[in-house]
Amino acid sequence: MNTIYGKCSLYLCPRQHDFSADNTSSFIAALQEIGFISRKTTTDNTDHYTGDKFLDYIAYLGCSPAIQFEPGANGETYCSIKIHRFASPRLIYSKTQSATPHCSSCRKPLKNRLNKKLAAAITCSHCHTTLNLAQLNWRKMAGYAQLFIEITDIFPKEAIPQQLLLDKLSAITDTGWLYFYSCQ
Ligand SMILES: [Zn+2]
Repeated sequence: MNTIYGKCSLYLCPRQHDFSADNTSSFIAALQEIGFISRKTTTDNTDHYTGDKFLDYIAYLGCSPAIQFEPGANGETYCSIKIHRFASPRLIYSKTQSATPHCSSCRKPLKNRLNKKLAAAITCSHCHTTLNLAQLNWRKMAGYAQLFIEITDIFPKEAIPQQLLLDKLSAITDTGWLYFYSCQ
Protein backbone atom coordinates (compact mmCIF):
# COMPACT_ATOMS: atom_id res chain seq x y z
CA MET A 1 0.00 0.00 0.00
CA ASN A 2 1.57 3.29 -1.03
CA THR A 3 0.40 6.19 1.05
CA ILE A 4 2.01 9.22 2.60
CA TYR A 5 2.78 7.05 5.62
CA GLY A 6 4.76 4.35 3.86
CA LYS A 7 4.87 0.96 5.54
CA CYS A 8 3.60 1.25 9.08
CA SER A 9 3.31 -1.06 12.05
CA LEU A 10 1.83 -0.98 15.51
CA TYR A 11 4.33 -2.00 18.17
CA LEU A 12 3.82 -3.13 21.75
CA CYS A 13 6.71 -3.08 24.21
CA PRO A 14 7.27 -3.42 27.96
CA ARG A 15 7.44 -0.20 29.94
CA GLN A 16 10.53 -1.58 31.66
CA HIS A 17 13.03 -1.03 28.85
CA ASP A 18 15.47 -3.75 29.90
CA PHE A 19 12.77 -6.38 30.25
CA SER A 20 13.46 -9.41 28.13
CA ALA A 21 11.41 -12.57 28.17
CA ASP A 22 13.84 -15.10 29.67
CA ASN A 23 12.34 -17.82 27.60
CA THR A 24 11.02 -16.73 24.21
CA SER A 25 9.12 -19.97 23.60
CA SER A 26 7.19 -19.74 26.87
CA PHE A 27 6.41 -16.06 26.14
CA ILE A 28 5.06 -17.09 22.74
CA ALA A 29 3.11 -19.97 24.33
CA ALA A 30 1.52 -17.47 26.75
CA LEU A 31 0.52 -15.23 23.85
CA GLN A 32 -1.03 -18.24 22.15
CA GLU A 33 -2.85 -19.20 25.34
CA ILE A 34 -4.63 -15.82 25.50
CA GLY A 35 -5.44 -16.17 21.80
CA PHE A 36 -3.55 -13.08 20.70
CA ILE A 37 -1.43 -15.08 18.27
CA SER A 38 -2.19 -18.42 16.73
CA ARG A 39 -0.42 -20.20 13.90
CA LYS A 40 3.23 -19.60 13.12
CA THR A 41 4.23 -19.11 9.52
CA THR A 42 7.71 -18.46 8.22
CA THR A 43 8.53 -16.41 5.15
CA ASP A 44 11.83 -14.79 4.23
CA ASN A 45 13.40 -16.55 7.23
CA THR A 46 11.20 -14.53 9.58
CA ASP A 47 8.73 -16.15 11.92
CA HIS A 48 5.41 -14.45 12.13
CA TYR A 49 2.06 -15.32 13.51
CA THR A 50 -1.56 -15.10 12.59
CA GLY A 51 -4.05 -13.94 15.16
CA ASP A 52 -7.44 -15.61 15.08
CA LYS A 53 -8.84 -13.62 18.01
CA PHE A 54 -6.96 -10.55 16.95
CA LEU A 55 -10.02 -8.28 16.83
CA ASP A 56 -10.76 -9.02 20.50
CA TYR A 57 -7.52 -7.28 21.33
CA ILE A 58 -6.97 -4.62 18.70
CA ALA A 59 -9.68 -2.03 18.04
CA TYR A 60 -9.79 -0.58 14.55
CA LEU A 61 -11.19 2.91 14.29
CA GLY A 62 -13.42 3.78 11.41
CA CYS A 63 -14.75 1.16 9.06
CA SER A 64 -14.46 -2.45 10.08
CA PRO A 65 -11.45 -3.98 8.40
CA ALA A 66 -10.99 -7.10 6.36
CA ILE A 67 -7.76 -8.26 7.86
CA GLN A 68 -5.55 -10.50 5.78
CA PHE A 69 -3.13 -12.73 7.62
CA GLU A 70 -1.74 -14.42 4.53
CA PRO A 71 0.02 -12.90 1.55
CA GLY A 72 -2.33 -12.45 -1.37
CA ALA A 73 -1.67 -13.76 -4.87
CA ASN A 74 -0.38 -10.36 -5.95
CA GLY A 75 1.86 -9.84 -2.96
CA GLU A 76 -0.50 -7.38 -1.26
CA THR A 77 0.51 -6.23 2.16
CA TYR A 78 -0.94 -8.29 4.95
CA CYS A 79 -1.09 -8.19 8.67
CA SER A 80 1.33 -10.34 10.61
CA ILE A 81 2.51 -10.42 14.17
CA LYS A 82 6.25 -10.61 14.79
CA ILE A 83 8.18 -10.93 18.02
CA HIS A 84 11.48 -9.01 18.12
CA ARG A 85 13.92 -9.69 20.91
CA PHE A 86 17.27 -7.91 21.13
CA ALA A 87 20.35 -8.44 23.28
CA SER A 88 20.14 -4.85 24.55
CA PRO A 89 17.46 -2.15 24.48
CA ARG A 90 17.05 -0.29 21.22
CA LEU A 91 15.03 2.58 19.89
CA ILE A 92 12.49 1.92 17.18
CA TYR A 93 11.18 5.18 15.85
CA SER A 94 9.10 6.29 12.96
CA LYS A 95 11.08 7.65 10.06
CA THR A 96 8.27 9.20 8.09
CA GLN A 97 5.85 10.30 10.79
CA SER A 98 8.21 10.95 13.65
CA ALA A 99 7.16 13.05 16.60
CA THR A 100 9.52 15.15 18.70
CA PRO A 101 9.82 13.49 22.09
CA HIS A 102 8.86 15.51 25.13
CA CYS A 103 10.82 15.78 28.35
CA SER A 104 9.10 13.73 31.04
CA SER A 105 10.17 16.27 33.67
CA CYS A 106 9.16 19.68 32.22
CA ARG A 107 7.01 18.26 29.40
CA LYS A 108 8.55 20.54 26.80
CA PRO A 109 9.60 19.23 23.38
CA LEU A 110 13.27 18.32 23.19
CA LYS A 111 15.42 20.28 20.78
CA ASN A 112 17.95 17.48 20.36
CA ARG A 113 18.18 16.12 16.86
CA LEU A 114 17.05 12.56 16.63
CA ASN A 115 19.06 10.10 14.69
CA LYS A 116 20.15 6.51 14.91
CA LYS A 117 23.22 7.37 16.96
CA LEU A 118 21.22 8.86 19.79
CA ALA A 119 23.16 8.83 23.02
CA ALA A 120 21.79 6.65 25.78
CA ALA A 121 21.15 9.77 27.86
CA ILE A 122 19.90 13.17 26.76
CA THR A 123 19.96 16.43 28.69
CA CYS A 124 16.84 18.53 28.30
CA SER A 125 17.81 22.01 27.13
CA HIS A 126 14.84 23.54 29.00
CA CYS A 127 15.11 22.07 32.49
CA HIS A 128 18.56 20.38 32.27
CA THR A 129 17.24 17.07 33.50
CA THR A 130 19.23 14.10 32.21
CA LEU A 131 16.91 11.49 30.82
CA ASN A 132 17.51 8.11 29.35
CA LEU A 133 15.69 7.15 26.18
CA ALA A 134 13.09 5.17 28.11
CA GLN A 135 12.22 8.24 30.22
CA LEU A 136 11.31 10.40 27.25
CA ASN A 137 7.72 10.78 26.21
CA TRP A 138 7.88 9.48 22.65
CA ARG A 139 4.28 10.45 22.01
CA LYS A 140 3.45 7.02 20.63
CA MET A 141 5.78 7.38 17.64
CA ALA A 142 8.79 5.53 19.07
CA GLY A 143 9.67 3.01 21.72
CA TYR A 144 12.81 1.97 23.55
CA ALA A 145 12.88 -1.65 24.68
CA GLN A 146 14.50 -5.02 24.31
CA LEU A 147 11.34 -6.89 23.42
CA PHE A 148 8.75 -5.77 20.89
CA ILE A 149 5.62 -7.24 19.41
CA GLU A 150 5.10 -5.82 15.93
CA ILE A 151 1.79 -5.93 14.12
CA THR A 152 2.42 -4.98 10.53
CA ASP A 153 0.25 -3.01 8.14
CA ILE A 154 -1.36 -0.64 10.62
CA PHE A 155 -1.21 3.11 10.09
CA PRO A 156 -0.75 5.48 13.05
CA LYS A 157 -3.95 5.62 15.09
CA GLU A 158 -5.78 3.39 12.61
CA ALA A 159 -6.01 0.75 15.32
CA ILE A 160 -5.30 0.79 19.02
CA PRO A 161 -4.64 -2.06 21.43
CA GLN A 162 -7.47 -2.68 23.86
CA GLN A 163 -6.76 -2.22 27.57
CA LEU A 164 -7.57 -5.94 27.93
CA LEU A 165 -4.52 -6.80 25.82
CA LEU A 166 -2.22 -4.44 27.74
CA ASP A 167 -3.50 -5.95 31.00
CA LYS A 168 -2.91 -9.51 29.81
CA LEU A 169 0.59 -8.67 28.58
CA SER A 170 1.32 -7.09 31.96
CA ALA A 171 0.08 -10.19 33.76
CA ILE A 172 2.26 -12.45 31.58
CA THR A 173 5.41 -10.39 32.03
CA ASP A 174 4.95 -8.62 35.36
CA THR A 175 5.63 -5.22 33.80
CA GLY A 176 3.39 -2.61 32.19
CA TRP A 177 3.16 -2.33 28.40
CA LEU A 178 3.12 0.60 26.01
CA TYR A 179 2.29 0.90 22.35
CA PHE A 180 3.44 3.08 19.48
CA TYR A 181 3.46 3.29 15.72
CA SER A 182 6.39 3.30 13.38
CA CYS A 183 6.47 3.99 9.65
CA GLN A 184 9.45 3.30 7.41
ZN1 LIG B 1 12.85 19.27 30.53
